[in-house]
Amino acid sequence: MAEFVNKAIACTIYNCVNHCDDEEYCSLKKIQVGTHENDPEQVECTDCQSFKERR
Ligand code: SF4
Repeated sequence: MAEFVNKAIACTIYNCVNHCDDEEYCSLKKIQVGTHENDPEQVECTDCQSFKERR
């Protein structure tokens, strides 16, 4: 289990190295949210840019 469970950042991306395995939260103190679109209009346009693939 991650040392730090940030209950202010709920997340279900278990495939991310920063995820708190046992609980549905991020283990980072802060994340960056951004977009891959020029003019974001839907939730699908937003990204967690702190994501790192678990290998
Ligand atoms: S870095 Fe982003 S995708 Fe990864 S666990 Fe944290 S909130 Fe989820």
